[in-house]
Amino acid sequence: MNKKTLRDIDVAGKKVLVRVDFNVPMKDGKINDDTRMVKALPTIKYLQEQKAKTILVTHLGRPKGKVVPEMSVKPIVEHLSELLGEEVLYARDCGGEDSRQVAEEMKEGQVLLLENARFYAEEEKNDPKMAEALARLADLYVNDAFGTAHRAHASTEGVAHHLPAVAGFLMEKEIEALSSAVGNPQKPFAAILGGAKVSDKISVMQNLLGKVDYLLVGGGMANTFLKAAGYETGKSLIEPEKLEVAQEILAEAKTSGAEVILPVDVVAADKFAEDASSQVVDVNNIPAQAMALDLGPATLKVFAEVINKAKTIVWNGPLGVYEFPKFAAGTNETARIVAEAEAKTIIGGGDVVAAVEKAGVAEKIYHISTGGGASLEFLEGKSLPGIVALQDR
Ligand code: ADP
Ligand code: MG
Repeated sequence: MNKKTLRDIDVAGKKVLVRVDFNVPMKDGKINDDTRMVKALPTIKYLQEQKAKTILVTHLGRPKGKVVPEMSVKPIVEHLSELLGEEVLYARDCGGEDSRQVAEEMKEGQVLLLENARFYAEEEKNDPKMAEALARLADLYVNDAFGTAHRAHASTEGVAHHLPAVAGFLMEKEIEALSSAVGNPQKPFAAILGGAKVSDKISVMQNLLGKVDYLLVGGGMANTFLKAAGYETGKSLIEPEKLEVAQEILAEAKTSGAEVILPVDVVAADKFAEDASSQVVDVNNIPAQAMALDLGPATLKVFAEVINKAKTIVWNGPLGVYEFPKFAAGTNETARIVAEAEAKTIIGGGDVVAAVEKAGVAEKIYHISTGGGASLEFLEGKSLPGIVALQDR
């Protein structure tokens, strides 16, 4: 990696400001899923071992620049104390007077979490004053929040200009996994793309077309491609204004050497609902009143063949309406095939990651990205401001 990491600097006894992504799903004041916290533990524990004073900063939810008590980080402070087996300190603001006081009194090895950065409008505006205030708390800055690296905010980008700034261990892992896939993939290289809309994934497709050997298309977006390829798609979700670009992508694939693989059969439902009645039909037989909500078994067979010969796989977006059990088979089955396959698989995207975790095969996947939007932008070939701002090797 061309960016410095925690291992490249001396943190012993120093005050270290660490941007983490503890934007965990909450329900009734309780943490629903602590995956993001657990994944940041290696960085925090390393800093504790090095006797650093660790000052953590995160955002939580979308308070839009105002103090919203339900979005306080207090439950996270409590849970992190449990995870670390020792008390985590808390500051009532994010870079203000209380942060300064608590940070001042920290002992070596202690951990402090500042209040929600997005309680302050300056955070998302990347206001230099907030960046400077955060920087004044510490000697060094570590960014371990890959999930917000695509946003140039005060705590993700601005602050990095005021302190020696390096990547944390989770950030390092994310960058290495994603760049090994898009930079120097072992071939054959297959991309699986799904999700609701073509419009969300066009840039990813265009960036991957020149790199992959196979592009497997599923989910809602497959319908626009089927229509563009001349099939009747009934009442399926399609984006008429994207038919042209879908046609262009199909044409481009012919010259770029990537094989685009569309569904050959689908699960067609009479309505968009959990209890819809459905049938498996060939793509040239989709009834006029039906909507395609999942991949059919013949398509899964084709997908499995490609997945089983691939050495590298990137997967973004679920392949059907996985929220309804009746239409989750395409996503779940693909998750199982990918988990059993030999390829190095990298999965990114909020929904597909949730689906793969629900399918219970997450442990067998080479890399599951903690960043939905960030992983997508990485795959689009964009540079992420939170990473760019870190020191080069
Ligand atoms: P990710 O978060 O993994 O990037 P997206 O947000 O792009 O994925 O898309 C997820 C959504 O796509 C899910 O809510 C799912 O129900 C929807 N979806 C998948 N297949 C279809 C389909 N055939 N028709 C309509 N919606 C679909
Ligand atoms: Mg999503």
